[in-house]
Amino acid sequence: MIYLDHGATSMGKPPQVGHAMVRALQVCGNPGRGGHAAAMAGAEVVYSCREEAAKLFACRPEQVAFTASCTLGLNIAIRTLVRPGSRVVISGFEHNAVVRPLHALGAQVVVAGRRLFDSDDLVAAFEKALPGADAAIFTHVSNVFGFILPVERLGELCHSHGVPFVVDGAQSAGMLPLELESLEADFIAAPGHKGLLGPQGTGILLCNRLPQPLLYGGTGTDSRSREMPQFLPERLEAGTVNVPGIAGLREGIREVRRLGLATIAKRQQKAARLCAQGLQEMGVQVFAGREQGGTVSFLPSGDCEDFAQRLAQQGIAVRAGLHCAPLAHESAGTLERGTVRVSFGHDAAPWQAEALLRAVKVAEVM
Ligand code: PLP
Repeated sequence: MIYLDHGATSMGKPPQVGHAMVRALQVCGNPGRGGHAAAMAGAEVVYSCREEAAKLFACRPEQVAFTASCTLGLNIAIRTLVRPGSRVVISGFEHNAVVRPLHALGAQVVVAGRRLFDSDDLVAAFEKALPGADAAIFTHVSNVFGFILPVERLGELCHSHGVPFVVDGAQSAGMLPLELESLEADFIAAPGHKGLLGPQGTGILLCNRLPQPLLYGGTGTDSRSREMPQFLPERLEAGTVNVPGIAGLREGIREVRRLGLATIAKRQQKAARLCAQGLQEMGVQVFAGREQGGTVSFLPSGDCEDFAQRLAQQGIAVRAGLHCAPLAHESAGTLERGTVRVSFGHDAAPWQAEALLRAVKVAEVM
C-alpha cells in the first residue's frame, strides 16, 4: 500500500518508536509515584520526552503537558479562555476539534478569513474582527487544503489587540517551525501521532499561561491538597500518563529533529506540488496555492468516497469526505461534495505522487 493519509495519522513510523514503547512496557513503573528504579525509569522517559518537545517548540520542558490527542489539548485551551457568550475569532479553516468545543460552550463565534490561499485576506479579516474579542483560535495548516496560515502575522495582531490566542498545530507540528517563545501564543496544541511520528493516543499542549484543568485527580505531588497543583505540567496531568506512548513519542520527535523540519517540509511540498500539477494537467479540479504544505485536495469527476475506494483498490490510501472540517469546506465551496485529500508524510517522495497520478488516471475510467 502507498499510504498518503498522513493528515489523519502518520504511518511508517521510525522503528525506534515501537522499540521504545516495548521497552517502556518492560521497565517503566509509574512516574512520580515512587522512588524505586522502575518509577524513576518511567519518570526519566516522560521528562526526556518533555525536553525533546521543548527543544522542538522552543519553550521550557514544564510548559509541555502531555495529552491523549490534539483534540484534548484544544479543549483544555478553549475551556481556559472561553466562557458562555465569549466572543471568539476563528479562521474559516478550523477543524471540528475547535468548532465543536466552542459551540458546546455557547461561545459567540466570528469566522474571519475564508479565502483559500489568501493570507492577506485572512490578516485583514482578523484585523477587523479582533477588537473586543475574548480569544482567537486558528489552525497553522488546513487539514483539508494544506493552506499554511500566516500564524506569525495573526499572532502579532492578537498581541496588538490584547487578545489571547491558541494555535492548532495538528497539521504543522513536525513540518513547520512552531515556537511558543517567539509566537507568544497562549497555547499551542499538537497531536503526537501525526507529524511528530509518535503513536496514536498521544498529544501535547504547550502552555504560556496557567490552564484550567479538564481532568482532576492524583498527580503524585501536593497530595494533601484538594486542589489541582497550581504549577505545570502536573496541573494538566491527573492520573497515570501514557508512558509507553510518551516513550514512542520521544523517539518520533527525535527523528523529526534528526531529519530537520526544513527537509521534511521540502519533501512534502515537492510531492504535493507534483501531485497538484499532474492533476491539473489531467483536467482535474485541484485546490493549490503558493502557501501550501504537504496536503492537496481535489475533485474527481464522480463521488469522492467512491473515487477514494477506487484508489484503495489500486493500493493507494487517501481520505475522502469532509475530513472533520466542514467549516473549511464551506469556505472553499466544497461542503456539498467534500473532496479527495492526499496528504504526504515525513517520507514523501516524487514516486509517491507519480503512483497516485497513475492510479487517478485508472480510477477516472473504472
Ligand atoms: N485539528 C486539526 C487541524 C486536525 O487535522 C486534527 C486531526 O485530524 C485535529 C485538530 C485533531 O487531532 P487529534 O485527532 O489528534 O485529536
